[in-house]
Amino acid sequence: MPDRTVDYLLIGGGLAAGNCARWLREEGGEGSILIVGREPDPPYNRPDCSKGYLRGEMKREETFFRPDDFWGEQDIELMTRTSVTALDAQARTVKLSSKEEIGFGKALVATGANVRRLNVEGCDLEQIHYLRTLGNSDAIREGTADAEKVVLIGGSYIGCEVAASLTKLGKKCQIVMQEEVTLERGFGKTAGNFFQGLLTEHGVEVHGQDELERFEGDGRVQRVITRGGLELEAEAVVVGAGVMPDVTLASKAGLEIGEKGGVRCSSRLESSVPGIFAAGDICEYDSPVHGQYLRIEHWDVAFNQGKTAALNLLGKDVPHEVVPYFFSDLADWGGLEYVGPAYGWDEEICRGTIDGGSFSNFYLKDGVVKAGLAVGRSDDIEHASRLLSEGMKLGEEDRRALGETGSDLAAVGT
Ligand SMILES: Cc1cc2nc3c(=O)[nH]c(=O)nc-3n(C[C@H](O)[C@H](O)[C@H](O)COP(=O)(O)OP(=O)(O)OC[C@H]3O[C@@H](n4cnc5c(N)ncnc54)[C@H](O)[C@@H]3O)c2cc1C
Repeated sequence: MPDRTVDYLLIGGGLAAGNCARWLREEGGEGSILIVGREPDPPYNRPDCSKGYLRGEMKREETFFRPDDFWGEQDIELMTRTSVTALDAQARTVKLSSKEEIGFGKALVATGANVRRLNVEGCDLEQIHYLRTLGNSDAIREGTADAEKVVLIGGSYIGCEVAASLTKLGKKCQIVMQEEVTLERGFGKTAGNFFQGLLTEHGVEVHGQDELERFEGDGRVQRVITRGGLELEAEAVVVGAGVMPDVTLASKAGLEIGEKGGVRCSSRLESSVPGIFAAGDICEYDSPVHGQYLRIEHWDVAFNQGKTAALNLLGKDVPHEVVPYFFSDLADWGGLEYVGPAYGWDEEICRGTIDGGSFSNFYLKDGVVKAGLAVGRSDDIEHASRLLSEGMKLGEEDRRALGETGSDLAAVGT
């Protein structure tokens, strides 16, 4: 017998769980709600860990999703520093690291993702950092306080954002990455070149088409050695080599895992076990917008899926039809917005002037808009989002209009 039972159990104390709890109450849910999270902090905005918080421009509390007293006021029980160690999906019980056993009516599994760790020679040296939590961000700040030279492994958004933030703090940053240009995997070479230009203009050195071979040092990291033969001096290293969904608990509980490694869910974000839902980085859902299963690691997706999950926990039968949105910024040198994702596009149409730092890029496959990227042109994102949802094959005239700055985007595809 469980020690006690709650109506809604939200596993994982991140954004998806936090926003789900909020919407359970906003939509009139009156049952008991318990959030169980492993970290010491309440749900917070992880993007700040590589941006304002890392640069010391934000206090810890400013990263919190809601002020501390919100949870009590909403009668939401928030347990931090507590792990769910086992989930029995049939008996509808969980065991906690505190040894308590809790029964539940319905549950959300939102355990997020873990960083991909590199297992190379020297990987255990001090001052090799990964970045996922506020605690990691603190450690990078402290570990680089007296450092002049920092090497970033990975040219995706974590590597680029951290390089930008640490450069602003006066560090000399170098990026080592497999790609030819930064952010190329998500946005292609043209846009990637633009972002790399922003970084190099501000003093970041970028080493593309190369790979980490090993770290060298004496207790503490001193050098990064690459397969291409570079020997880069480093007083600290930050690795941004991607994340893996944390499905440990879900898979042990027998929830079906999808091809993208996440908890396989219906369009209503319900897992293979009725009454147990998933949201955020671990959720691999049947997207009605894309007509395929997607798993996406973006703030906005975790936020919106938390809401959709709440509506479905309340029995409202709502498909998750929100177009995935992503944002990133390189210190205050340039920000980007993106809707998508596009896999294997065959055409890129650019609108605006890349050199002028104000452009949008539309990514098409077989004439259909699959994604849009905007730098300094936020309004274009809405149109990209509409075109993506409609999935209409665009003729030559429409495609030409996409690329003409003065044309009316609202008329494209209509
Ligand atoms: C440094 C950084 C910068 C980012 N910047 C951007 C950005 O600019 N734009 C953007 O769109 N996205 C960004 N992201 C991604 C975005 O923050 C994530 O997609 C989002 O936080 C995912 O939310 P989540 O609730 O699914 O998971 P998480 O935020 O990872 O929360 C899951 C929580 O569950 C806890 N947990 C796991 N297992 C258990 C268990 N068994 N018991 C209890 N608790 C458990 C974890 O410890 C964690 O606290 C960034 C991420 C990082 C790390």
